[in-house]
Amino acid sequence: MKGSTVSAQAILALYLVVFLLALGWEAVLEVLNIRHVRKNAGTVPRAFASTVDAGTYARSVSYTLARAKLGLIAGACSAAALLAVVLTGLLGIMDSFVRSLPVHPYLQGIVFIAGTSLLFGLIGLPFSLYSTFSLEARFGFNRTTPLLFLVDALKSLGISAVIGVPVLLGLFWFMDRAGTFWWAWAFGAMSVLQLLMNVLSPLLIAPLFNRFTPLPEGLLKERIVALARKLGFRTSGIFVVDSSRRSRHTNAYFTGLGRAKRIVLFDTLVKVSTEEEIVSVLAHEMGHEKRHHVTKGIAVSLLLSLAGFWILSLLLHWVPLYQAFGFGQPGYHALLVLLAFCSGPFTLFLQPLFAMWSRRHEYEADRFAARGVGSAAGLKSALLRLSRDNLSNLTPHPMYSFFHYSHPTLAERIAALDRLETTLHPPLQGKPFSL
Ligand SMILES: [Zn+2]
Repeated sequence: MKGSTVSAQAILALYLVVFLLALGWEAVLEVLNIRHVRKNAGTVPRAFASTVDAGTYARSVSYTLARAKLGLIAGACSAAALLAVVLTGLLGIMDSFVRSLPVHPYLQGIVFIAGTSLLFGLIGLPFSLYSTFSLEARFGFNRTTPLLFLVDALKSLGISAVIGVPVLLGLFWFMDRAGTFWWAWAFGAMSVLQLLMNVLSPLLIAPLFNRFTPLPEGLLKERIVALARKLGFRTSGIFVVDSSRRSRHTNAYFTGLGRAKRIVLFDTLVKVSTEEEIVSVLAHEMGHEKRHHVTKGIAVSLLLSLAGFWILSLLLHWVPLYQAFGFGQPGYHALLVLLAFCSGPFTLFLQPLFAMWSRRHEYEADRFAARGVGSAAGLKSALLRLSRDNLSNLTPHPMYSFFHYSHPTLAERIAALDRLETTLHPPLQGKPFSL
């Protein structure tokens, strides 16, 4: 017994060290970024001198700094809450309570997980409220009303319950009854469910929050259809989403899988962009599909989740792990909550690798789009417009963008597109009338 107590302490110490290192590193990056943005705040960076006016640049600096500061405070508070929960033994107290409920152990597990999620959801709520109704509103982005915020939150809770409860019941059953290889079975079932959700969520869940209307007939639609045909891209439809109900931010995305794939344009984007810009953005998105970035992404996430399930199977009966976090005994729900607590800090080192991989794909999709459309000009002006309209940070600290950015910085992307444009439309060699 004494041996297991010692290793429980060692596990807790290891967790705290990794957790604090990860937290400290994130804070260092955030502070570096804030200082870098402040240092460059005086004048518009040279790369954007002709495309971004001083007023917009100043607003983008204030917006970046306001969000970074909120992120730092929110991060510190949720870290403090997490440490309090771990160090006070609250998890063990909650666990004993749910185990005393006169219901099936699987249902006890669901009450435990729902309780923990609700607790952390409530801790994050003030920051979410402040972000939406103060910060976003101050910069003219927010259009969400308090009623819409409440309705959205209730809908999200309902959907989490409808999907989460059966998923958890299934997981508990696999852990309990499926034998030594439960992790492989559970992985198989979860993968099928994940693929199914990819197909069903644009059809069943997204419409609960937004209205999707088919893009009206006209020149824009004709150009998009022609582009899709030229690039060999299948889609089940082009839709405009009423994103302006919540925010003035602009974007476009693809959703669904295979032939059920839909193109979705924010109404805010359609309103302000030229046809050439929209077509270029979509060509970029089609590039992700045609270069198999989506398939590769799914393959890697499946591999990671297989590894995750296998690790869970190794830890399932390891008593000191549960003792380290205050649990009296092992439990399926306890293991899932510990996974949620540990996965972030313990996989932080993977973040820059994934970011790097994703940035390579973005360059590839940009090249695909420029070649497909025959010019980089549309994409370039679309990227500049998106960045201006969303007040994106034009001067991130290189270490910060290296670690966090899934997309190259705007300056890097524009430079790559400029280089590409010279190969698509080489400048005339020599001067015809030189003296
Ligand atoms: Zn992309």
